[in-house]
Amino acid sequence: MIISLRKIGKTPSDFEIQDDKITFKGFLQYDSGNLILLKAKLCGIVNTECSRCGEEIDLEVDEDLKFFISDGLYKDDDNIEFDVVESFNSMVDLNDLLKSEIELIKSDYHICDNCK
Ligand SMILES: [Zn+2]
Repeated sequence: MIISLRKIGKTPSDFEIQDDKITFKGFLQYDSGNLILLKAKLCGIVNTECSRCGEEIDLEVDEDLKFFISDGLYKDDDNIEFDVVESFNSMVDLNDLLKSEIELIKSDYHICDNCK
């Protein structure tokens, strides 16, 4: 799902996408300058591997995400308490964002029941 950042206004634009067993649901809202706020919930199951034995594990995920998308280069003048993702074509690909969030979760240290 590709969204044009220029179309995002002060009224939140809801979105919901699904990838396998994960739901990514939230909204995009114009904040200030060239920043768009993304607030979403990530929930479902992520298949990953035990960091010790390599056994597959179904990881239950229930996470709140909040970050900014910058339309163009983000200048770090203001102190912002959230992460900023830069977009250089005024578009945001929510499926890509979802994929990188899933990769991030997978890269954490996870242990299966047998290794606990
Ligand atoms: Zn294990």
